[in-house]
Amino acid sequence: MRYYDQHLHTYFSPDSRETFENYLNLTDLPLISTEHLDFFSPLQRADDVIPDYDGYSAKVEELNATYDNCLLKGIEVGFTYADRHRIEEFLAGKDYDLKLLSIHHNGRHGFMTLNHDQKPLDIHLDEYFSLMLEAVQAAPYANVLAHFDFGLRGYDDVQLQELERKEAILTKIFRTMIRQDQALELNTRSMYRYDNAHLYDYAIGLYKQLGGNYFTVSSDAHRASDYQLRFSDAFNMLRKHNVKQLVTFQNSEANFVALPN
Ligand SMILES: [Zn+2]
Ligand SMILES: [Zn+2]
Repeated sequence: MRYYDQHLHTYFSPDSRETFENYLNLTDLPLISTEHLDFFSPLQRADDVIPDYDGYSAKVEELNATYDNCLLKGIEVGFTYADRHRIEEFLAGKDYDLKLLSIHHNGRHGFMTLNHDQKPLDIHLDEYFSLMLEAVQAAPYANVLAHFDFGLRGYDDVQLQELERKEAILTKIFRTMIRQDQALELNTRSMYRYDNAHLYDYAIGLYKQLGGNYFTVSSDAHRASDYQLRFSDAFNMLRKHNVKQLVTFQNSEANFVALPN
């Protein structure tokens, strides 16, 4: 099997209007979308984002009858500890091929809309990574940690040294993931749209040094034009770290595939 993009959104996510067909017309590879699940607190005055699983499953089944690609089912779980039971209840009995784990907000505000002029990065990183540690510890069912740098996207020019200062907690996060066979995602949108490739270079090295060998490369596309965004650059970065294979998930089972040339 060849490697395929494992993080993308369609109109089944509220922040995307893209159709499956537009992705399918670009590729003969398997296609998996990972639609948002996010619960919000009353403080946030936002509606919970709950995927329409039945509608989604019916659409995937219909497309599988028409296209040769092999469509799979995915979800991006926006984790908060407060919502852990609601998340588990939602997932119970549903057969997703792939579950991504994301930390999008802290129950008070989203990390993309953070007022980074007022909160020093160092303090923010302590909070963000402690939420991430809590997430990986409480969500062993997840297959992949998505965009580990999501909480940094609101800050410009994050220096490597600023991340290196958090190596102790990152080590705990990665050790937990490795124990649970959870993959580290190279999110090419973060790497090349938010200019965080240097932070990924560091994270790959640390995760690998700790014994991790589950990697995914994903675009986080919200429109078909971003499908497999700059994959060859991300593959080259992995090659530099002597990584030779990637993982894909079907029915929550990891399968190794060769790193594409
Ligand atoms: Zn996300
Ligand atoms: Zn996403």
